[in-house]
Amino acid sequence: MTGGREDGPEFDHPTEKCGVVGVSLSDREAALPTYYALYALQHRGQESAGIVSHDGFQQHQHVGMGLVGDAFDEADVDALHGSAAIGHVRYPTAGSVDKSCAQPFSVSFKGGALGLSHNGNLVNADDVREELAASGHAFTSDGDTEVIAHDLARNLLEADLVRAVKETMSRIHGSYSLTIMHDDTVLGVRDPLGNRPLVLGELDDGYILASESAAIDTVGGELVRDVKPGELVVLHEDGTGYDSYQLVEEPNTAHCFFEYVYFARPDSVIDEELVYEVRRELGRHLWREAGVESDVVMPVPDSGRAFASGYAEQAQSEGEGVEFAEGLMKNRYVGRTFIMPTQEARERAVRLKLNPIKSTVEDRAVTIIDDSIVRGTTSGQLVDLVREAGASEVHVRIGAPPINAPCYMGIDMATRDELIASDKTAEEIAEEIGADSLSYLSLDAVTDAIGKSEADLCAGCVTGEYPYDVAGEASDRDAERPAIDAAGDD
Ligand code: AMP
Repeated sequence: MTGGREDGPEFDHPTEKCGVVGVSLSDREAALPTYYALYALQHRGQESAGIVSHDGFQQHQHVGMGLVGDAFDEADVDALHGSAAIGHVRYPTAGSVDKSCAQPFSVSFKGGALGLSHNGNLVNADDVREELAASGHAFTSDGDTEVIAHDLARNLLEADLVRAVKETMSRIHGSYSLTIMHDDTVLGVRDPLGNRPLVLGELDDGYILASESAAIDTVGGELVRDVKPGELVVLHEDGTGYDSYQLVEEPNTAHCFFEYVYFARPDSVIDEELVYEVRRELGRHLWREAGVESDVVMPVPDSGRAFASGYAEQAQSEGEGVEFAEGLMKNRYVGRTFIMPTQEARERAVRLKLNPIKSTVEDRAVTIIDDSIVRGTTSGQLVDLVREAGASEVHVRIGAPPINAPCYMGIDMATRDELIASDKTAEEIAEEIGADSLSYLSLDAVTDAIGKSEADLCAGCVTGEYPYDVAGEASDRDAERPAIDAAGDD
């Protein structure tokens, strides 16, 4: 497909961009480690948090709005009995903010109890939902997670677990890392292109699946490996091991490059790369490609830190007498500014969040380093702040290429016309944000730092070409959504 549009039909329903966890232990309650793992994944979602556990007889569930610490109190965690659990933190979106969209999604059906946590976004959810609705399935939300749950429940009535998951995978198209609980069996599934991360870890008395390895570290586990694209991992109910089924195999992957740039924690290892080191390497590339002479290099905290340290290190190694210093102080009690629904609220939030350190910037030429520019709100505000604090020059360097197309794969990136780079050059953006100069990083540098070819990454938000068949958008490969016929067969 070719062409482009403001926002495809895939934006009509709430998208699911999140952190997921699944835990199976020998006989300890799984809720507490799941809760801690969700804490470690808090950066992946602040809108709601939830856990579903199973004690061998029945499912228990608690979901609440807000941060993990607000969504649960001690009694809530204590009431989640059983040595199997899955958990979820949900990313904020401007639209739906009520409990009906919170996850894990759970459903009881003839074949048992099912819980499902989803990170990613299906691009054919409407096709599958329509077909399921036509055969009598009633939906309580318009999210794609419920679609997966219903499809899987239907398949579980006719097939064993592995075949049922395989059948569902043949019908859904898009990005998904899932943790699923069928009765007290916990499973993890990663979509055939491995767009979102999912890792497997070992605990003293069991196994854990999580979006990022930092969650495994937090509960004292060891990272075993990434769940492979197209793989199903089934944790044994007694916590003694796991089984692996490679259900779908594709010649290439489509790992999201933005996980490395912004979304994942720097202390996480994704697809065998430590995110912090990737970011430092991106910073080194940034100096090599677009270094600019200045007195001081300073990060936008927290996301720009690793980039700025790599950038300054590379500059210094090439004999540039530049200082690396903190010039912006962050108020850690203000949440991510991006979630504010209006432009005015977003602008105020940047001021609430960051304040300049005068001694770093006064009468000096300053280079500010951040990971990305989306709408341009943050950088515009920061350039003003730093100038008001007395900087003589303000340069901006960005550790990613220009984001100029929407993300349909589970990251809230704004619509095309909100993206400042969608219709402006770097020089025009520099002018708009008031910077003396602005440079981005090339996509080549990104692929080099991540150590993967462009054919194995998803950079749709940069290239406008997606690894999946997104309605109205171009694809960078032979991507085709499955035909969903009325009988539900593939
Ligand atoms: P903006 O102010 O709209 O240009 O957004 C850029 C700032 O938001 C940068 O400081 C990024 O670290 C951060 N950011 C980038 N992408 C996202 C995202 N998808 N969600 C939340 N924050 C983001």
